Amino acid sequence: MTPASDKEIYLIAHSDAQIRLLLQRMLTKDRRDLIMRESLEDLRKAINDEIPTLIIVGEKVKGKSGLDLAAELISLYPASPVILFVEHDSPDLLKRAMRLGIADYLTFPLRTDELTEAIERCLKRGQQRQQWLKSESKKMTESLRRRVGELETLTELGRSVTASLNLDEVFSAIVNAAVNLTGAEEGSLLLLDEATGELYMRAAHNFQEDFVRTFRLPVKDSTISSVIHTSQPVLVNEKSPQKIKTAYLVHSLIYVPLILHDHPVGALGVDNRMENAPLKERDLKLLEALAEFAVIALENARLYSVTEQEKNKFQTVLAGIQDGVLLVDKSGNVALVNDVARSILNLPADWKTGGPVSAILAQQELKELFEQGESLSNRAETASPDGRVWDARLVAIPEVGKVVSFHDITHLKKLDRIKSDFVNTVSHDLRSPLTAILGYIELLGRVGPLNEAQQDFVQRVVNSAQSITGLVDELLNLGRIEAGFDSRRENIHLDQLIRLSLESFKPQIAEKQIRLVSDLAKEIPAIQANPVQMRQMVDNLLDNAIKYTPKNGSVTIRSIIEQNQIILQVADTGVGIPASDLPYIFDKFYRAGNVENAVAGTGLGLSIVRSIVENHGGRIWVDSVVKKGTTFTVVLPLQS
Ligand code: ATP
Ligand code: MG
Repeated sequence: MTPASDKEIYLIAHSDAQIRLLLQRMLTKDRRDLIMRESLEDLRKAINDEIPTLIIVGEKVKGKSGLDLAAELISLYPASPVILFVEHDSPDLLKRAMRLGIADYLTFPLRTDELTEAIERCLKRGQQRQQWLKSESKKMTESLRRRVGELETLTELGRSVTASLNLDEVFSAIVNAAVNLTGAEEGSLLLLDEATGELYMRAAHNFQEDFVRTFRLPVKDSTISSVIHTSQPVLVNEKSPQKIKTAYLVHSLIYVPLILHDHPVGALGVDNRMENAPLKERDLKLLEALAEFAVIALENARLYSVTEQEKNKFQTVLAGIQDGVLLVDKSGNVALVNDVARSILNLPADWKTGGPVSAILAQQELKELFEQGESLSNRAETASPDGRVWDARLVAIPEVGKVVSFHDITHLKKLDRIKSDFVNTVSHDLRSPLTAILGYIELLGRVGPLNEAQQDFVQRVVNSAQSITGLVDELLNLGRIEAGFDSRRENIHLDQLIRLSLESFKPQIAEKQIRLVSDLAKEIPAIQANPVQMRQMVDNLLDNAIKYTPKNGSVTIRSIIEQNQIILQVADTGVGIPASDLPYIFDKFYRAGNVENAVAGTGLGLSIVRSIVENHGGRIWVDSVVKKGTTFTVVLPLQS
């Protein structure tokens, strides 16, 4: 007999030393490993993890029932045959042995040929059993390996579907995988042409190129069309090639629908034309998984193209508008800059976005605008290299970053200057004739007595001339501030100045029963400023707030220290300023439509305030809602 494996292990458990000797002699002839022990533990220890080829057990082993030992050995090594060796034959014992699954049964007297035969028989049966096990497990391993291969292919495909937006590439990979995994002869991915209602081949494997290019199938009366109409897959296996309502003859085919948002958009299929090799239910399941990938790829590509279109639209708008736009992401890097903003920031045409915004800001005002962060002062005025003046506004957008929009105010600035020049000239030239008028009127009484009526008329002329002189003085004063003539600077404590100003408005506040809230920052540092102008600024703002707030309203004056600047706010609950008037209220002589004629004023107050603020390197703006109230915000640098 030839050994089944390199090593054969015989386990012998028998109490009789003579029998053991006999067995030893008989069995070691073939140079097999013979292991003789009298307990299960000893036996197991002696062979480690190996599987015995044959087991021989005596009727009683070390006082224990041989049948019990055999039962334990059988459950440990189900594939190894066990021979039971008994002294006395009995039907009962035989029955129990059979029930246990003992392979053979020997009794005394022991004949060598009988024993040899029994061993041979058992070995043969054991070998058969082991071979069967081996071939079964080989089959199982192969099928497992195939499934692992399929899963790997699917995973790989999944990865490329999510990574690639190239539909040609992804669809080809899907069709190739469909053919490889099912073992079919050819495969194709068909898409529905919405315009013609026909199916065309978007990707194919093993089809002729011409066929692929010209393939057009109306979605009616064909196997594929039933897949499209019912959204159900088909599996066809025929013995002889059939023209099963497809465009060509096949033995077997599978088509699964591609369903996007509940609508069939195409089909994925494989078929066998040459050989009669049936396709299986498993193949159908695989194709369904692949179809899912195809649908994901289609949807990805659709979403990408929608995003691209939106992005292009957005970029066209950005490129076309007259305003500059600069977008900075949350980490402070430039995410977007349109052409206008490029020219303001003096960036070369090939400048690429992505770098830190701090690297491209040449203008000090813009640097400060970004450094201020979330602040009330989100505006700056800046000039571009071509001399134009821009109003830059910064808006923080949560989750996105910061956007600065630049609006061209060059012409406004120019107009403002022309108007100032005009006003200065006129007011200056008005002053001399007015002085002459007042001088001569004074002389009138000296040249002869005036009657009562004449005296009354002269007084009226004096009053009017003085009122015009006052107006002209104010204009000249404004002209001087604008021209920066009064450049005196002193250390000023703004809070003290505000308290003095509030004191002077006490009568008006009391008369209108206005609730005054003063919310001043503790320890406002002294600023370098012109004391007269600062007082004028505060007075004018408070005057307006009180003047344009009806009885029982409230006026709040607030100061905040923030990053090297002082923010002063004067807010009221008054009539508010119509949006259409807002751009002009800082202009000279401008009075908004909200004020009744009864409220006195020249319309110069705010233009003086603005000139003072700008003279001190600050900024001023207004927020107002009609019938709700108005807030003026002044920002002054602390070190000027
Ligand atoms: P003046 O200050 O020279 O006496 P005035 O108050 O009319 O005159 P400005 O102070 O320059 O002129 O203000 C211009 C206009 O802006 C006002 O006429 C008014 O229409 C509007 N305005 C200013 N402040 C307020 C405010 N707090 N509430 C409502 N409207 C205001
Ligand atoms: Mg005023």
